[in-house]
Amino acid sequence: MSEAQSLFEMLRQSVKPEIVDAFARLVRDAPDRKLCRINALAFAAAEGLDEEDTIAGFLQASRLGIFELSWNVLCPGCGGVLDANTSLKTVQATEYTCALCAAGYEPTLDEMVEVTFTVSPRVRHIGAHNPHELPAIEYFRQMYWGSGIDLPEDDYEEKFDEFVIETLELPPGDKAVISMQLPAEFVIVFEPVTHAAQFLDVKGEPTRERRNLVLVFDRAHRHAETLNLQPGPLRIQVENHAEVRTLPSVCVAGEALHEMLGRRRPFLTAKRLLSNQTFRDIYRTDTLDVDQRLKITSLTFLFTDLRGSTELYERVGDLAAFDLVRTHFRVLNEIVAAEAGAIVKTIGDAVMATFPTPDRAVAAAMRCGTRCASSMRSAAARTCY
Ligand SMILES: [Zn+2]
Repeated sequence: MSEAQSLFEMLRQSVKPEIVDAFARLVRDAPDRKLCRINALAFAAAEGLDEEDTIAGFLQASRLGIFELSWNVLCPGCGGVLDANTSLKTVQATEYTCALCAAGYEPTLDEMVEVTFTVSPRVRHIGAHNPHELPAIEYFRQMYWGSGIDLPEDDYEEKFDEFVIETLELPPGDKAVISMQLPAEFVIVFEPVTHAAQFLDVKGEPTRERRNLVLVFDRAHRHAETLNLQPGPLRIQVENHAEVRTLPSVCVAGEALHEMLGRRRPFLTAKRLLSNQTFRDIYRTDTLDVDQRLKITSLTFLFTDLRGSTELYERVGDLAAFDLVRTHFRVLNEIVAAEAGAIVKTIGDAVMATFPTPDRAVAAAMRCGTRCASSMRSAAARTCY
């Protein structure tokens, strides 16, 4: 049995069979790009699987080393990944800048940090394990854009070519020249590895004059002032001062670009994961430092209390009551997890749970009320005989 097969067998002990089968098919048959930064929600939808079970499955599979979990800070404008982290602990910067959108954002866990899963090299090697060897078009698809952008499946290459006029690979320390005819459009010279951008607002009478532009790429996330230029010949000298390969690309910020980046889909946010029961069970409080300044703009708390538990202990005796209380915790656990919530604390007979949205908390509260009452009744009936 291969290492991958034995890992999937182990996964069956904690994850529903239909989820394990879907993972096994994915790892066996999917093209490389589909195994890089997987959007757990899109995967669940495409396979017709339950979302919560699928998220739990990805987490258990990551614990076993089938997938690697990544926390990616996103630009809310273009959906690009500004920073990828193997732990939420390293998401530290108070402000990230997207050169493409020319805006500084402070990371919040609500919508700005996504969690994705990439197949581990132990299980299958894919191109994205060496991102600096991916062709530019695949670097954009697999490494630059976040999992919330619903990139076209069938004609991605054609659509990409519609707005990218020129792209080249520039090894560390190298220089190159891009000679081109500037169209009368809003043009962006963008470099996705170092996140550098130069905007060119091209309009007016076409000219034959040859213009020169020098762009330097390093780790400074630089964004220079927009240049106003007339249509016509332009010579762009690009210099790579970074320690990795860069991919200077000349794009037209027109209809085609906005259309591709405008198609969005739901993705697994850090907030939702921190409120997930399986996540909390596996990783405990390991993921966040107290002094980390990450903001959550909304989170719903639910507190429960077992009414009359003191009388219950007196009436049925300690052992039987303890059994009943345990049953009540198990029921609460199931319901909270099914509504995308997590129990973060138990205080005596009470629990404190968090949910990503209020509707989920209300649904859980209502189900807890009815389920607890009925299971307590039947458990009490059993214990009293
Ligand atoms: Zn952006």
